[in-house]
Amino acid sequence: MRYPEDELVVKAPEGEKIVLLIFDGLGDIPHPDFGGKTPLEAAKTPNLDALARDGALGRIIPVAIGITPGSGPAHLGLFGYDPLELEIGRGVLEALGIGVALNAQSLSARANFATMDAKGIITDRRAGRIATEKTIGICKKLQENIGTFEGVKVEIHPAKEHRFVVVFRGEGLADGLSDADPHREGSPLPEVRATKAGAEKAARVINAFLKKGQEILKNDSPANAILLRGLATPPTIPLFPERFKVKSGAIAIYPMYKGLARLVGMDILKVNGEHYEDEFKTYIENYDKYDYFFIHIKGTDSAGEDGDFARKVKVIEEVDRILPILTAKMPAVLAVTGDHSTPALLKSHSWHPVPLLICSKCVSRDSTKRLTELEAVNGTLGMFPSRDLMKILLSNAKRMDKYGA
Ligand code: ZN
Repeated sequence: MRYPEDELVVKAPEGEKIVLLIFDGLGDIPHPDFGGKTPLEAAKTPNLDALARDGALGRIIPVAIGITPGSGPAHLGLFGYDPLELEIGRGVLEALGIGVALNAQSLSARANFATMDAKGIITDRRAGRIATEKTIGICKKLQENIGTFEGVKVEIHPAKEHRFVVVFRGEGLADGLSDADPHREGSPLPEVRATKAGAEKAARVINAFLKKGQEILKNDSPANAILLRGLATPPTIPLFPERFKVKSGAIAIYPMYKGLARLVGMDILKVNGEHYEDEFKTYIENYDKYDYFFIHIKGTDSAGEDGDFARKVKVIEEVDRILPILTAKMPAVLAVTGDHSTPALLKSHSWHPVPLLICSKCVSRDSTKRLTELEAVNGTLGMFPSRDLMKILLSNAKRMDKYGA
């Protein structure tokens, strides 16, 4: 994949610093039970207000107009990639989500235990949703007995309830594989097929793994079969620090966001603690070492998903309260936005544009006073796809060249 405008990115040893502060799922819609306000409108945010008065507002479209994105593609957009072109397999996201490091030689799958009858028919695709502790035990037994297949190592990582992740590591593994999942009960477990040339070895290895796995689990009903979906290798992508010529550090608490940042080549900075304050302190500690920081705040999205308007307001207010820790070392360019909207009213991600604030000396001013969905409509940054944000941030940090004479 080529990004032609990358050729305008200049190596700027004295280039200025960029901070991208992401509130996951920040955007929202008016809630009738809360005076028709959005959480950003309802929250008291004196520090963000000051930045909004100084900076410029706009709105970003995470993936495409009218499309509801997952956090994976939504973050790729923020990192300057086209999420419609750069596909990340479900297995890869699932592995990143539980903190498993992946490289080009790893093929991962979302896995879960299922129940199979004596005739080989899948009778329960979720193995009665066995408890997480039970899954941990069975995964351990599988791991101890599974061995290797054609030199390929197998890693079994338990997740929640009946779910786990399988990572195959070795040479010659390619994706382009059908699922080992009948996708309905009452059918036998299908073998994995190579759907693309080159994936034949992977298909053989996985089928051998499934066969051996079933033998190991034969007395573990209801968890006596393994289903695999979304088998994928990580995409080969031009790495973020090389594309944009910035030394890049990611500050996040949740594994999936660290995983996404690692996937594009950012350094993952160690956060001592689990509070937003600890994330901001990590930024201050590493300020001199990096040109670009990605800082991820998870709480807004979780609250939106739970339909908890008041909690979403609280997360925004809490981050606003501690914002001076971050702005004590104000970067030349500070952008505050979300990866997508997660309206509390909808209890899910949504397609709505996300309000964006950029503070920088050379951003065009506007008359906006607060970072809210409605004010953002009147911002001078306008509305544009998330994947263009990185170019605007680089230009503001004087890291992009002129196009043509
Ligand atoms: Zn998200």
